[in-house]
Amino acid sequence: VRTGLVAGNWKMNGSLEQNQALLTAVVAGIRSLDRVNCAVCVPFPYLAQAQVLLNQTHLAWGAQNLSQYTHGAYTGEVSASMLVDFGVQFVIVGHSERRALFGESDQLVAEKFKTAQTAKLIPILCVGETLTQREANETESVIAGQLEAVIELNGVQALANAVIAYEPVWAIGTGKTATPQQAQDVHVFIRDKIATRDNQIAANVRIIYGGSVKADNARELFAMPDIDGGLIGGASLVADDFVSICKAAQ
Ligand code: 13P
Repeated sequence: VRTGLVAGNWKMNGSLEQNQALLTAVVAGIRSLDRVNCAVCVPFPYLAQAQVLLNQTHLAWGAQNLSQYTHGAYTGEVSASMLVDFGVQFVIVGHSERRALFGESDQLVAEKFKTAQTAKLIPILCVGETLTQREANETESVIAGQLEAVIELNGVQALANAVIAYEPVWAIGTGKTATPQQAQDVHVFIRDKIATRDNQIAANVRIIYGGSVKADNARELFAMPDIDGGLIGGASLVADDFVSICKAAQ
């Protein structure tokens, strides 16, 4: 049976002062949870703060992006080994905001996935369709393409040390959550796709859902058999809400 994972994606939010209050409250709130892993993916400058505050707690920390390169003349980029220096366990790759706003292609995302794993970081690979794609019945082909690019470059075995996040773009920050059944259907599609290559890996990989997960809808989403937790944007910035969502994944 798969252990649940609830990861916060703070996106470009926070301050030293706000983070301190938020992290302290979340750590206190999730103290007794043992059947779910919880993590926060914070902006790069706050990794040091997260490391200090979260070391030896039940809350893991991660980053939201990384460079595909290991080091060198790449102004403004952050490498996997730098994340490792700050005790990072997870790194989000291929978030739809990076794909849409910063031009990340399926190929680039696959390279970032590789760089992360080479450094022993656990990539949280985001996949998902836009509203236009869903309405054109392209959901499955879009997700298959995003997944295939990663498997082509990394091999299906790579998914043994990764998390997949299904995030329908139309549900992100819109308050429009996918219904539990809509999400479940796509999660099954992803798992079946992986199973055509390796049954065991398909059965074990954690597939989490993201897109307007809130304290009041988390439980019904996480109750679906193939939804192993969530990737939480807005609600991860409010301690009580994030703690409730973590509890819903127990
Ligand atoms: P919201 O929870 O704010 O919709 O964001 C979801 C998301 O993009 C998490 O990565």
